[in-house]
Amino acid sequence: MKVLVTGGAGYIGSVVTDRLLAEGHTVEVLDNLTTGHQDSVLSGATWHQGEITEAGEILDSSFDAVIHLAAKSLVGESVTHPERYWHGNIVATLGLIDAMRSAGVRRMVFSSTAAVYGEPGVGQITEDTPAMPTNPYGASKLAIDHMLTAEAAAHGMAAVSLRYFNVAGASGSLRERHDPETHLIPNLLKVALGDAGEAKIFGTDYPTRDGTAIRDYIHVVDLADAHLRALKAAEPGNHAVYNLGTGTGTTVREVITAVREVTGIDIPAVEHPRRPGDPAVLVASGQRALQELGWAPQRSITDMVADAWAALR
Ligand code: UDP
Repeated sequence: MKVLVTGGAGYIGSVVTDRLLAEGHTVEVLDNLTTGHQDSVLSGATWHQGEITEAGEILDSSFDAVIHLAAKSLVGESVTHPERYWHGNIVATLGLIDAMRSAGVRRMVFSSTAAVYGEPGVGQITEDTPAMPTNPYGASKLAIDHMLTAEAAAHGMAAVSLRYFNVAGASGSLRERHDPETHLIPNLLKVALGDAGEAKIFGTDYPTRDGTAIRDYIHVVDLADAHLRALKAAEPGNHAVYNLGTGTGTTVREVITAVREVTGIDIPAVEHPRRPGDPAVLVASGQRALQELGWAPQRSITDMVADAWAALR
């Protein structure tokens, strides 16, 4: 297939591009480099620096699909500047869908998020769990999911939304590089590298097995594999939604233990109060993705930490 990857200079987009190229697809990357990195654009892909709203200048009937990953994705910023999320995610994606319709490109895999569910409480989140986002970031992604449902029904698009839980790990040198970095595993690895003095544990009074929050971590290579499966499985006139998770979760303390084991470095960790807005448990049921896409994550939390550590060094 010939595929446009928006956000292909980012962490997940570069790994998705890598897998597409490895499977023999033709890939063009569109990224404005606000959070992506030019050196993450793979040489096998045709490169366009620009906004999502410029996709219409690239797309024509020679394309088979768009994998749409480009987005604004900082929860805190979405609360203080919601208008950036309505424009950057909702309005920009509406323009992309219009451009796809005009060009006759009728297949999309969209990067949705666990944030659409808000704080559903303890237990596995399925695709039927009510979506009640608690911030504009999650709301903007949910609005796009609704757009895709309607576009599929009205105009025959083949659409798939993949709702990511906590993505981690690396693929060779392709790794997570955020500024500021808020995610747990890269922050722990900074301590291991000597770039930060001590790790912070946000919240030790959650109703979980060791008092720290539980998240469902997925290796970025497993995640990329789900995109390729979704691309093939997408059906005209249908919008399918899949949670990408393992069905089990890992506590913050268990992640710290994995980082200590992989690096051989004793990570000093200091207990802090809960980070505002962090739910106790976010774990996905991966049953639908298994049944309909044949997708199941293959890589463990130790693999994620080991691959991220190798990429850093
Ligand atoms: N966390 C932590 N210390 C850190 C960063 C994160 O204890 O330096 C906790 C955070 O409160 C959450 C979990 O680790 O419970 C995962 O956080 P992350 O930011 O990686 O992902 P999120 O689930 O918030 O998207």
